[in-house]
Amino acid sequence: MSTAVRFLIPLLTAVLFLGGCEKTEPVYNSRFLAFGTLTDISIVGVTREQAETAVETLEEDFAIMHKAWHAWAPGPLTRTNNLLAEGVRFAVPPSVLTLMRISKRLSHQSEHLFNPAVGKLVELWGFQSDSLEDHRPPDAEAIARLVEANPNMDDIEIDGIHAQCSNPAVKLDFGAIGKGYGIDLAIEHLREMGINNAIVNSGGDLRAIGSRGGHPWRIAIRSPSGSGTLGFLYVSGDESVFTSGNYERNYLWKGKLYHHIIDPRSGYPAQGTRSVTVIHDNATVADAAATALFVAGPKDWRRIARQMGIKYVLLIDTDNVVHMNPAMQKRVQLMNKEQPVKISEPLGDQATAKTP
Ligand code: AMP
Ligand code: MG
Repeated sequence: MSTAVRFLIPLLTAVLFLGGCEKTEPVYNSRFLAFGTLTDISIVGVTREQAETAVETLEEDFAIMHKAWHAWAPGPLTRTNNLLAEGVRFAVPPSVLTLMRISKRLSHQSEHLFNPAVGKLVELWGFQSDSLEDHRPPDAEAIARLVEANPNMDDIEIDGIHAQCSNPAVKLDFGAIGKGYGIDLAIEHLREMGINNAIVNSGGDLRAIGSRGGHPWRIAIRSPSGSGTLGFLYVSGDESVFTSGNYERNYLWKGKLYHHIIDPRSGYPAQGTRSVTVIHDNATVADAAATALFVAGPKDWRRIARQMGIKYVLLIDTDNVVHMNPAMQKRVQLMNKEQPVKISEPLGDQATAKTP
């Protein structure tokens, strides 16, 4: 036997053995409705029974969270909003308190471009409705009045478990962060159940932990049109990928698209961006940051990303140019090689918001 052949036999055995390992690690996939979107759970490395129990548990968790953080259906958040508007000092429901605290900090870091106190503006535009058919933009004066009132998270003072609000225009809407926080809690719960390799993916926004039988998870980045794929990236260990896009909730009026991400400075849907994808190590910050950077737009996204501690950003502007920082460019494989791309200066390592 030649040296080359003798060398090849153990090598081939190793490859086959690895292949065998993968076969014993099936990926268990399941899907249910949560936060109004389809949520996909992929689990690896446990038995089918364990995976099934975990999925049932998460489905229940998400149903509770959806109810707790709904700004328009009666529940703890609507009660909170009534008490904030009254200006009284009150004990905040536990399910709302943590999100309120985290939101205050992230809002501050984003110069209030992520501003969950804009619930009244969202309502004025009608984006809380189940159906956006026959919608039209609200009266300009009504928008101007709300912008003038300047509702923001600094209007809420938190003291222990109590809060008091000094601005009756504040109405909390956790639509830009609730899903992220929910996914973080879901991952925590999976880990408590002994699951360390999984993806929780809600409508394309996800957190992935561990690996897929030793391989990184392959993640598709949604195209800004809302369907199709812009590109791919790989994640392993523990990372979240979140996208905010103008395709998600919108309506056309006189040929112009009005979408659900409001620029709190103008009171109108944010201009200049089609979608933003960020990678971060937790889903709460990733969710809030994707919304904030969407509002910040092609001119200001780097400053806001730095302040929020975000290290990977991809932003598509309304001219279809893909803006990325160099670290993101290294990780993304775009489907269209002709895609116009603009690479920014590095974001640096001034991370300040690693954990929510
Ligand atoms: P997302 O899809 O995560 O970007 O969140 C968008 C949702 O958050 C909207 O449907 C509104 O309910 C709410 N929202 C809109 N504009 C803002 C904003 N500037 N800051 C925080 N929440 C917002
Ligand atoms: Mg968001």
